Amino acid sequence: MKRDSKDSGRIALVTGASRGIGRAAAVALAASHHVICLARTVGGLEETDDLIKAAGGSATLVPLDLRDGAALDRLGASIFERWGKLDAFFANAGVLGALSPLTHLEPKVFDELLAVNVTANWRLIRSLDPLLRASEAGRVLVMSSSVARKPRPFWGGYAMSKAAVENLALTYAAECDASNVRVNILNPGGTATAMRAKAMPGEDPSTIPQPEDVAPLVVQMLSPEWEENGAVVNYREWGKRL
Ligand code: NDP
Repeated sequence: MKRDSKDSGRIALVTGASRGIGRAAAVALAASHHVICLARTVGGLEETDDLIKAAGGSATLVPLDLRDGAALDRLGASIFERWGKLDAFFANAGVLGALSPLTHLEPKVFDELLAVNVTANWRLIRSLDPLLRASEAGRVLVMSSSVARKPRPFWGGYAMSKAAVENLALTYAAECDASNVRVNILNPGGTATAMRAKAMPGEDPSTIPQPEDVAPLVVQMLSPEWEENGAVVNYREWGKRL
């Protein structure tokens, strides 16, 4: 089997790498990984690639809609063919949906929340599990939110999806306990991105943490040195476990 010449280093997959926290994390991870950057927006992925190259790193761009389950299965096969393993999977991509009472949520918005925030991550875990186990230190980090554990009016659709993906991640962590794979959860807290601006349109983004502030914790939680499994970490209280 022909393997890529970069197969001696660590390989990371970042979903939602076209902007926001995913972009900052992809750039930070590129110091120690070849980074596979996934999102739908080609222009955004190319801007991330430019930043990675400018910092001396390397990336592979994967323009893909996470609602395309068959494409996610093919992605696992492609990564296997090229690298034979995956060392870090940052399950970051997400949608906010609409902030409204549960009874006003449109079914298509509810379906997208489940498809992007939950089902895609299960489908990726299913596709990537053999690759993560083939790594000497496979690491998975899943993005959550404080509303996953603290229900709040109008946030129900998003909160439901984050509670579900937390359970998915913790179950997978338990299933990986005896392996080299570690699966953890990060709650970044309010971070200045497009999603945050949609949720809090009146907020001055310069008053809250930037994606580049959160990225070092992402890198740390995806490193071989991160031995904890099934931890839920809050960026605002770096080091404190929930
Ligand atoms: P952004 O809206 O800035 O970025 C979301 C990313 O997800 C984009 O790269 C987008 O790419 C990608 N994405 C969305 N839908 C799809 C899809 N169907 N297929 C492929 N990619 C998709 O969000 P943030 O950076 O703020 O959020 C990152 C994560 O952090 C999310 O999981 C979010 O829930 C979580 N979080 C964020 C907080 C914040 O305050 N920012 C607070 C708590 C949690 P594209 O549109 O190009 O496809």
